[in-house]
Amino acid sequence: MHIKGTTKLLGIIGDPIEHSKSPVMQNAAIEMLNLDYVYVPFEVKKEDLEIVFKGFQAINLRGFNVTIPHKENVISFLTKITDTAKKIGAVNTVWLGGEGWHGTNTDIDGFIAPLKELNRDWTKITPMVLGAGGASRAVIVGCEQLGCQEVRVIGRNLEKLEALKDSFAYSNLNCQISVYSWDKLTNLIPDSELIVNTTPIGMYPNIDNSPLTKEQNRLVKQNTIAYDLIYTPRPTLFLQQAQLQGAIIIDGSEMLVQQGAVGFEIWTQKQAPIEIMRQALLNL
Ligand code: NAP
Repeated sequence: MHIKGTTKLLGIIGDPIEHSKSPVMQNAAIEMLNLDYVYVPFEVKKEDLEIVFKGFQAINLRGFNVTIPHKENVISFLTKITDTAKKIGAVNTVWLGGEGWHGTNTDIDGFIAPLKELNRDWTKITPMVLGAGGASRAVIVGCEQLGCQEVRVIGRNLEKLEALKDSFAYSNLNCQISVYSWDKLTNLIPDSELIVNTTPIGMYPNIDNSPLTKEQNRLVKQNTIAYDLIYTPRPTLFLQQAQLQGAIIIDGSEMLVQQGAVGFEIWTQKQAPIEIMRQALLNL
């Protein structure tokens, strides 16, 4: 990569940021297409967000990703946000448009991309989503976009679950949200053809943990889709055990690649070299 006087800046903000795999993936795509861009990680504290937005505009930074813990807080600095990002209440991709900063949420594109490859009648599937945090919201809206009529969200904190459900009340979501406390999990598993883990249970370094107990795992039916948003390790214990039950497994790496590809295309107006991005990520 040759940084020149003409090179345009892209980046990612978060806190912490050193774990991010996006710089390797995005710079591999930039290099492959021989574009005059560079993608840089920035550690940004919440209290510095305003100054960062002003500074990025001043230096004509073209666009950036947003990761934990800023996905909700950046919204107040944007002049335009897409309907999808509005529904989710979180933004992960920002770019400089005519009248200032614009934002969208490409996590949802990333989440549904591998599911669209599967031949399923989504209107007949009621997904079960474990966890009620930021990623859970993108997964819920993703399930709606697939055509699911109902999504079951399971969490450990009933107040948070109700708040999550209420927050969608005025968003015209074409899909019913039902919430359940964690102790209902066992009974729900046999009915679920799509189980999505959006909790960090099983993520490195806690690789011996799974959101399902061994007994619960035995209730996973053949051909169920087990989807874990975690991408380190690949696969997680949850996915390993589900696979032994005959489930189809999807890990979080494809979501990461696909959300990044959509961002790349927004910023550069070029078709993303998805296979190069995937390989860059998997080789890390
Ligand atoms: P978050 O906002 O912190 O939400 C995490 C959720 O998991 C919360 O609802 C939390 O419950 C629940 N949880 C945590 N530990 C739990 C436990 N021991 N038992 C039951 N529930 C538990 O985080 P997030 O942004 O949604 O991210 C969640 C996961 O998705 C992370 O592993 C992240 O790396 C992954 N992710 C992957 C991608 C990708 O591209 N592959 C994109 C986004 C996120 P409480 O609400 O009660 O605390």
